[in-house]
Amino acid sequence: MHYLIGNHSLMKRINRARVMNLLRINGTLSRAEMTEATGLDSKSLTNITGELLSEGWLESCGLSNPAIGRPRQLLRIRSDSESFIGAALNPGRVVAVRCGLDGAIQAKSFQDISPDADRESLMRAVFRLIDSLIGSFGRSGAARQIGFAAPGVMMPEGSGFLLSVNIPGFKDIPVGDMLAERYGIPVSIEDSSRSMAIAESWFGRARGVENFLLVDIDIGIGLGIYSEGRIYRGTSNSSGEMGHTVIKRDGPLCYCGNRGCLEALASGRALLEKISGIRQSGRYSSEDLNRLKEAAVAGDKEVVNLLKQAGKHIGMAVANAVNLFNPRMLIFAGPLAWEDSPLVESARRDLSAHALSSSLRQLTVQVSSLHGGAALGAAALALREVYEVEGVLTI
Ligand SMILES: [Zn+2]
Repeated sequence: MHYLIGNHSLMKRINRARVMNLLRINGTLSRAEMTEATGLDSKSLTNITGELLSEGWLESCGLSNPAIGRPRQLLRIRSDSESFIGAALNPGRVVAVRCGLDGAIQAKSFQDISPDADRESLMRAVFRLIDSLIGSFGRSGAARQIGFAAPGVMMPEGSGFLLSVNIPGFKDIPVGDMLAERYGIPVSIEDSSRSMAIAESWFGRARGVENFLLVDIDIGIGLGIYSEGRIYRGTSNSSGEMGHTVIKRDGPLCYCGNRGCLEALASGRALLEKISGIRQSGRYSSEDLNRLKEAAVAGDKEVVNLLKQAGKHIGMAVANAVNLFNPRMLIFAGPLAWEDSPLVESARRDLSAHALSSSLRQLTVQVSSLHGGAALGAAALALREVYEVEGVLTI
């Protein structure tokens, strides 16, 4: 939990965000309950809720029915008063969601694209999907903010992406500026694995967990790091490159130039290359991984064995990460990480075998239950304007 001490307007923003968070988490509350939960005096609390009511962000929803005392007016967030868009580019697919002010998902949409699509086609698909979600928002037809996520190397200042090995056409794209210019609203950008971790914190397994890691097993492999209640981005916005940690000296050549990277041994791309016997950049989509999953579920021995092997490598890399970060929770996510996936089962075993018992003692290992996690995380990124102040989650 973090509190800032500052001037009056900063404190007001923090208190507004605290009230909004309380209602987001609890659904409906009376002013008396909010006064107690926030520690604010009742006059300040009434001022804040009055302001939020007049802005249309809150609405009253009947009276409480207490065992003792008089009934009190209940308040809740008016979900449809604002909309926030989250869009994510994956290899072969764009996914977008529209959330209401309380984070409730109002609409979700996706469009398949060629993994070889060029820059113009990719951006056209992103625009088209966002247009369709904004256009379907009834009253004002506009969104308040957009969040966008993609796998790749972000520009150090965070306005776009320098490259994405798994989406070759997505190169040198200041996507944040392009979206802001087209829609005229603020835009936030994030790496996919980090965005998936944000989604788990808002909508998934990691609600209320301050320290956790998310392993994103897709065409590539990434790590989302949540530390002390916030995402860790690193000095130049490139944290979480677990796919390029070396786990086998003199192992297979990785496209980053190194040998023996986790990604060259255990990523979706490495598995697809092993099966097809063809080494190529791009060209693979997350849909190819869904077919691998189907084959594994149907009992294809070759695929099951490949997934087990990959799981051993991932388990070892994850054991190192768990020793380094001592998280409360570790979440496996992505198309190859379903609940009884051979990959996850063997990764769990190798994690237990290689991590320190002190790192494992309080660790819970989970498999993500979210679909389209990166797009959900991007929507949560957009919602931060309401619920966070200067990156501080005001719960
Ligand atoms: Zn590498």
